[in-house]
Amino acid sequence: MSSGAPTITALDCGWLRTQQRTLSQGGSTDEFSLPVPAWLVRHPNGTVVFDVGLHPDLADGPESLGRMSKLFTPELDHGGTVGHRLAHHDVDPLGKLTVVLSHCHFDHSGGLCELPNARVIVQSGEWNAMLAAGGYERSLCDLGHDVIAIDGPHDLFDDGTVTCVPTPGHTCGHQSLRVLTAGGPVILAADACYFGHTLDDDVLPPFGFDFDQQRASLDMLRRERSSGTAIVPGHDADIFRRLITSTF
Ligand SMILES: [Zn+2]
Repeated sequence: MSSGAPTITALDCGWLRTQQRTLSQGGSTDEFSLPVPAWLVRHPNGTVVFDVGLHPDLADGPESLGRMSKLFTPELDHGGTVGHRLAHHDVDPLGKLTVVLSHCHFDHSGGLCELPNARVIVQSGEWNAMLAAGGYERSLCDLGHDVIAIDGPHDLFDDGTVTCVPTPGHTCGHQSLRVLTAGGPVILAADACYFGHTLDDDVLPPFGFDFDQQRASLDMLRRERSSGTAIVPGHDADIFRRLITSTF
């Protein structure tokens, strides 16, 4: 590969308004807004997008969310989807990108429709579960992309700098992305860790594929943090607001 460590740029791909209890066991009915990020990872040998945010239809209202519209109110501008965000950073959304999906939920896969020529890397168990269950996520995910279904860790550039790391529990095939930046290792945790405080208070969402697996994935993230890896949670507004202003 040519020289240079990969960089990470946060992309604001919408927000969701919901009650605290939607995402946290024992949470209140107080409402808050959570960011829906995508992450642009530039490597000397290719461009990766980790998660792709909300579907553009949600800029018109929550109707296309179906049953999830009872829980979430989307806050999305027409120019605020992943395709527009990538173009703003001089990345052609119609180009040969690599998309890594943490998992197939609507707030992580909705923008796939704007990246029609991407190859999609996803854990095979996640992809198969999405296909088998049908429903809303299937209409977002199963769009004819070149899908590379993997099992376990996956080194995208064979140099150890950008690696899919399984973090199951939230869903059966959830994965995070470990990036070795010039400033040190970073794990984009996605929904293996919703908030910064989750690593310390251990408060899990009220739903999930497997709570024991979620705790084991959090333990792994804590070990990584102890050894100096920066853990970027999936839906933490304060942390996201800090990151959105910089490339790291
Ligand atoms: Zn999510």
